[in-house]
Amino acid sequence: MIRAIYPGSFDPVTLGHLDIIQRAARNFDELIVGVLNNQSKHPLFTVEERVKMLKEVSGKILNVRIMSFSGLLVDFAKEEKANCIIRGLRAITDFEYELQMAQTNSILNSEVDTMFLTASNDYSYLSSTTVKEIASFGGNIEKFVPKEICSRIYEKYSGKR
Ligand code: ADP
Repeated sequence: MIRAIYPGSFDPVTLGHLDIIQRAARNFDELIVGVLNNQSKHPLFTVEERVKMLKEVSGKILNVRIMSFSGLLVDFAKEEKANCIIRGLRAITDFEYELQMAQTNSILNSEVDTMFLTASNDYSYLSSTTVKEIASFGGNIEKFVPKEICSRIYEKYSGKR
């Protein structure tokens, strides 16, 4: 059984994330999507809300499991018996940070490898931050996030506008 972990904030999940989930799930026996519980990043959605949204949008992919985690990613990987970390690469701007994280994690645990999937052309510009900014101004986010979760993003801003 080859198990991989796709970690991230997913605040909120975008079509770019979902594309990586679908493609990674095709290449591993099991894919765990690890939702980082890190209050210091001041997420818009609680970790429970982020897990719920991911479960809704990836529920049809049978070998995908959604879990939250806190602490070190390599410890989470060890606990879950996963030996591969999946990350998405959008542009050269992602590369420096991702390389640093991958190398650090390999020193912390040499049994866990990091593999990168390049973003699909359709989503290489897309980030959760952009989605939040558009939604905060009441703009149309339908082309950026799964339709099931659009209203929940607008709700977060409805009292603030
Ligand atoms: P983090 O806070 O760890 O960067 P994100 O939720 O922003 O978490 O992203 C999780 C992973 O998904 C990262 O590897 C990121 O590069 C990747 N990712 C984010 N958006 C996209 C996208 N549009 N296409 C492909 N990969 C993406």
